[in-house]
Amino acid sequence: MTAAWVLGDQLSRERGPLADDPDRVLFVEASDFARRRRYHPQKLTLVFAAMRNLADDLRADGVDVVYERADSFGDGLDAYFDAHPGDELVVQRPATHGAADRLRELVDARGGSLRVAENEQFLCSPAAFDEWVDDRDGDAYSHEAFYRWMRRETGYLTTDGDPEGGAWNYDDQNRETPPDDYESPALPDFEYGEHVPEVREWVAEEVDTWGDSEGFGWPVTREHAERALADFLENRLADFGPYEDAMFADDWHLDHSLLSAALNVGLLGPREVVEAAISEYRERDDVPLNSVEGFVRQIVGWREFVRHVYRREMPALADANQLGQSRDLPPLYWDSDATEMECVGSAIERVHDRGYTHHIERLMVLSNFALLYGASPQALNEWFYGGFVDAFHWVVTPNVVGMGSFGTAAFTTKPYAASANYVDRMSDFCAGCQYDPDSTTGANACPFNSLYWDFLTEHEDALRANHRMGLVYGHLDDKRDAGDLAAIRERADDVRSLAESEDL
Ligand code: FAD
Repeated sequence: MTAAWVLGDQLSRERGPLADDPDRVLFVEASDFARRRRYHPQKLTLVFAAMRNLADDLRADGVDVVYERADSFGDGLDAYFDAHPGDELVVQRPATHGAADRLRELVDARGGSLRVAENEQFLCSPAAFDEWVDDRDGDAYSHEAFYRWMRRETGYLTTDGDPEGGAWNYDDQNRETPPDDYESPALPDFEYGEHVPEVREWVAEEVDTWGDSEGFGWPVTREHAERALADFLENRLADFGPYEDAMFADDWHLDHSLLSAALNVGLLGPREVVEAAISEYRERDDVPLNSVEGFVRQIVGWREFVRHVYRREMPALADANQLGQSRDLPPLYWDSDATEMECVGSAIERVHDRGYTHHIERLMVLSNFALLYGASPQALNEWFYGGFVDAFHWVVTPNVVGMGSFGTAAFTTKPYAASANYVDRMSDFCAGCQYDPDSTTGANACPFNSLYWDFLTEHEDALRANHRMGLVYGHLDDKRDAGDLAAIRERADDVRSLAESEDL
């Protein structure tokens, strides 16, 4: 008999082996997964509760479901093959590097057989991406080129191969900050059955985690995920574009979709999400093109792109550290009270409370601080991997090691390094902060400033030749000529010491 083996990040009846009406379905809920690192309790609750819910749904429809709760995949497979010797298992190829081989070894060791089917949770197949790269004559990966190619291939927001509205992106319209009294629409509430409280309790009792287990608000069924998508389209898509890069002290989500976790565990598929957004845009006259295009780009462009770059660049990607940064993260990453920096403290608190911040807080606050501080890309990756509900190795690693840490130049041409100026421009954090975004030295100076210039000085050999860094190195030369660099170094050293002693 053939049984579909459904992994915790492949929870879809619409795609993959479950869509082919298998004779039997296997889930293995392995508790050692939960102990592999200090995960956010909401991440564990999300994955295990969503697995149990899908198993219930299948059973309710008369499907023969085997749900093994075991210490490890190996133990779960032992129990399965004892009861069902001779079954062939079929699984979608996991997106995580090396995982398919590990699953095959486990099944082989038990005398079973495993068929690894294509992963249907993405829009672009490995073969299509590889062909696209080959046609680029060995040119480095370019997200912009990939995204345009994907738009043409899919026909999304294009007419005869040209972009709708005449431009491939409308970023110039997407850098607004909301007015002071802006309130984004309320989020939907989901009714949770027995599994969310059950798993939450088990996690609290049995597993060492970091983060708040209460306040759980993530979709854990297909019905929740469909509602989350519909709610985003109806209430937040229209403002998504203009405010997508803004940060707001009183609003942790603004108009972001909050769909990454549902997408990454398979409750939603990228095609349906993108096509629903485009339909919404076509049916309404209050959804601007810059909003729908901005959203489509995140999924058709970035999500697909990082998945394939990861696939091709692993295993080296995970260890990449071209700047040779080696510091551990300071304690404030686990304790928002260890810093008075409003932007950093608030972002850490948001991660602690929900396992989520939006992309600019991830990139321009949490990663930027670690980059300028000199933390190793691997330390930061481990922190993100543990802390976020939507973190899976294939997506967190390229984003953190590549984009956030500039650990590799494989697909980012320059570090996303910024002084306080960026946060001041894109948020209202600085207004309520004890640090001055306009000062670089002195006890009240925003730590981002001295760290920024110190980072540029320290990595001058590696970065000065980068043509995209010419302007900032011109400013650094001015500071050097004015004799400012010693005081900047002193303040940066103080900032690092204060961060280490939980007093920043
Ligand atoms: P929206 O802003 O509403 O965007 C829509 C969707 O686009 C997201 O749901 C997501 O599926 C996709 N998307 C957008 N950007 C990216 C991207 N760079 N890579 C992959 N998908 C993208 N995303 C994760 O899913 N898991 C992670 O662990 C993760 N870690 C990140 C770490 C760093 C340092 C950075 C800079 C980005 C990371 N991202 C990660 C990408 C992005 O920040 C999140 O996908 C997004 O913030 C999720 O919130 P949302 O669903 O509200 O997204």
